[in-house]
Formats: sequence, C-alpha cells, structure tokens
Amino acid sequence: MIALTVLGSGTVAPTPERTSPAHWVEAGDARILFDCGAGTLHRAASFDVAWHTATHVALTHFHPDHWAELPAFLFALRWGIEPSRQDPLVLFGPVGLSARLASLAAAFGEWITEPEFPLEVVELEAGTAREIASDVVLETCKTPHTDESMAYAVRHAGRRLVYTGDTGESAKLAEWAADCDLMLCECSLPEERAVPLHLTPRQAGALARKGRARLLVLTHMYPVFGTTDPTSVAREEFAGEIVAATDGSRFTIEGP
Ligand SMILES: [Zn+2]
Ligand SMILES: [Zn+2]
Repeated sequence: MIALTVLGSGTVAPTPERTSPAHWVEAGDARILFDCGAGTLHRAASFDVAWHTATHVALTHFHPDHWAELPAFLFALRWGIEPSRQDPLVLFGPVGLSARLASLAAAFGEWITEPEFPLEVVELEAGTAREIASDVVLETCKTPHTDESMAYAVRHAGRRLVYTGDTGESAKLAEWAADCDLMLCECSLPEERAVPLHLTPRQAGALARKGRARLLVLTHMYPVFGTTDPTSVAREEFAGEIVAATDGSRFTIEGP
C-alpha cells in the first residue's frame, strides 16, 4: 500500500485554506516528505502526521514555496520533539542542493548540514531511479518549470504514485508517468490565466489521460480558483476519478 496525506495543497499565495506545497507519502518502510513549504510542520501537527519520523525528504525544485520550511524542519528535529532525533535522514533534491544548503548553514548555523543525527544529502539527476527502502523505488523526471525542476515517482508493492511538482505541459512527462495509480498533479491556474510553466485543470486532465492514471489528485492551486471546482474542467479531458486536494486530504493505493 502507498498512502498519501496532502499537508499543503496551495502555493506561495497565502490563504487560510491552503498552505505551501508539502505532501507526505508512506510506502513500505519509507516515509517521504515531498516538498517542504511554509506551513508544513504546523499542518502535520494538525493532521496527526508523524513528520519527525520521516526517512526521506525530496525537493522538486528551489522555488521558496517548495522548500523554505526546510531549515525549520531540521531545527524542529532537534528542538521540536523529545527526545531529539537520532535516526538518519536522507535529503533528496536537484543538482545544486548541497551548495544551497551550505548557504543556509552560513545563514542559520552549521546544524543545517551537521545536525545531531546522520544527514545524507543526495543530489539527483532527472531520469534516475534508486531503491530507497526495501521494495521502494524513487524515480525522477525533468519538468519544464525551472532549470532544475523534477517530478518524482514512488514505486512500491506493484503500485506507483507520481508527483509532478511544478510543471508546464510535457509529452515526456506524460510518457514517463505512464500507468501510474495516483497522479498528484499541479493545477496552478484556471484556463483564462494559463501560463507556459504551470498547468490548468484542462492540461492536468490531459496529462492524466496521456499518462493513463487511475486517480488524478489536483494540488498546488492558486487562490484565483476561489470556490470554483477545477475537477469539472479536468473531467473534460480525463475520464478517471479526479479529486481536488485540500490540506489534510488522504489517499491510499492498495496493493494488487
Ligand atoms: Zn515553482
Ligand atoms: Zn510552486
């Protein structure tokens, strides 16, 4: 089984309902935090997610809404729980992560890169796959958004979850995402506000159709959607099940 809890279904634009991107995935012995935007820790507390037991953190790109809370996350592992963390943590991100962490260490302190638990920093190229726990494989794919931006997939027990991160339209991404059980897809802006480096509901629906997803979960929604329902537009492109995530949404993909 793969389980997903959406901690933050929003963007950098603040609303009471949606905090910045953060998605908690449990698969086998792995507990992975995908992106770590503002609000991650407090939403995790609200939704009873054991954030401090994360085995891995995986960052899609370096826009601040996707990782600005990482220093607080590391700080909280020392001062926000009792007893403080001892277990190792693996931090995945695009190439350039180590240099950025060094800059953060200069700003906040050496504990960023040398906390009191083993911290492994792994820069991932797009187009790779690696086993991160028994029968848990983490895959990456380049997305058209920033120079370094990547999508991730988790494979476990014959199931596959894809998280697009931020992306524009991409045939390559659709091909890579093929036959995923759950596509957690960015859906930034409605059709009339479309931009090249993000997706609209229609484009998200088309990506899910081309990727033959079984369940499409929309996330990363700007407040401009208001109370309108993006799933109704996405449904014009995708016949499978579609859910617009809210902070606290939970999904499980049962094994075969
Ligand atoms: Zn971005
Ligand atoms: Zn974003």
